Amino acid sequence: MMQMVRARHAIVGGEAVRDFAFVVDDGRIVRAGEGAAMADAHPDLPRMEYGDDRLLAPGAVNGHSHCYQILLRGWADDWGFDRWRDDALYRIIPQLTPEELYWVALAAFVEMLGNGITTVVEFFYLNGAGMRHVEKLVEAANDCGIRLVLARAWMDAAYAPAAFREEIADARRDTLALAKRLNGAGVMVCPSPHSLHAASPEMTRAAVDLARELGVPAHMHVAEARYEVEQVRARTGLTPIAYLDSLGVLGPQFVAVHAIWQSEEEKDLMGARGAALIHNPVTNQYLGDGIADVVGLRRRGVRVGLGTDCDLRPSIYDEMRAATFLQKTAALDGATLSAREAWLMGTRECASAVGVAAGDFASGLAADWCVVDRTHPAFHPWSNPVNQLVYVSDPGIVVETFIGGRKVSDRRRALRYGNDRIAAELRKVATRLALPLDHAAPR
Ligand SMILES: [Zn+2]
Repeated sequence: MMQMVRARHAIVGGEAVRDFAFVVDDGRIVRAGEGAAMADAHPDLPRMEYGDDRLLAPGAVNGHSHCYQILLRGWADDWGFDRWRDDALYRIIPQLTPEELYWVALAAFVEMLGNGITTVVEFFYLNGAGMRHVEKLVEAANDCGIRLVLARAWMDAAYAPAAFREEIADARRDTLALAKRLNGAGVMVCPSPHSLHAASPEMTRAAVDLARELGVPAHMHVAEARYEVEQVRARTGLTPIAYLDSLGVLGPQFVAVHAIWQSEEEKDLMGARGAALIHNPVTNQYLGDGIADVVGLRRRGVRVGLGTDCDLRPSIYDEMRAATFLQKTAALDGATLSAREAWLMGTRECASAVGVAAGDFASGLAADWCVVDRTHPAFHPWSNPVNQLVYVSDPGIVVETFIGGRKVSDRRRALRYGNDRIAAELRKVATRLALPLDHAAPR
């Protein structure tokens, strides 16, 4: 059914606009423009109108997430990366049953919807025991309505837990089966070699070859920690990006995640090959990874999107804020990386990096939007809304979220189960896994 959405206040192309409207047909925007003119041109269409107390923003695009890492919040903190990975991530996540994974994923996705995220790239490791976990992940995304890009991880390093590890032939068979079923049916399955330390060169090549065959991007963690550069150099004599180029995998379909530790030559190479970057500034601070040269990479034409990675608080507005702060700090210049640039990195530039037609209000894009409360205490209606969402907003400022023209979140409530049920299921998972449940000391 066709309908028109009209708002007194909207953000379009990273700019505040007054009286804007778009026509939605079958989940996509088919026309967009000035509100009064659109209303005249389509007098008979059913209409959804937003008044002076609301602001319409395109849904944020989350370019990189590991939803199950919400289980690590609040106890596996303040550790070095190795301890965090070995004693938290690799100890807890492999124990999840498919049913438990469903509830954990649902909880994370519902939180994202409440924060105005409408597309998520879920970089998913639990593939070592077959398809049951990944099927539950897809089910959770379908049940809450979030637009899913499945970066289906490939890992074959001996150190990786068995629950994550596969042979190349098995990874290919299962990824292909998923892609055949889901690509074009609302989910995009992207074969994604985990990293140069967790996937062999043969596996990395095979994954990217399959991505090319399917016409989808391949995502890969690259140079998140400084040690990775030394490791790759010792093994191959090359820096990580140069080595990936020597494998023939660097190209417009290649999405590097992190790429913090890079030489100037590697940045040039990423630009020359048309590769994209997903930057995860909150996680990079949390784990003490370092600061990616986002400004330098964008200057070279690299498409840069934002991701919530370890999902401490999965909000792209938080990532936008962190991205600007890190670049300003690194450059010692408050004029570096503006709120508008950060906004675009969390919306349409991220969509372009991950190959999804979304992230703005324009013809041909998905009709994904969120409704911001202009009467919220953290919103000053006289100030620039983009700056406020980037620098000031807090959870609660988004009151409704729509995907493909359909409402999927209302005042942070999950529409299918309700938040109480999800919280109870999550607590059951935490109890079975014996996560620390109570840190209060008896008195
Ligand atoms: Zn990651």
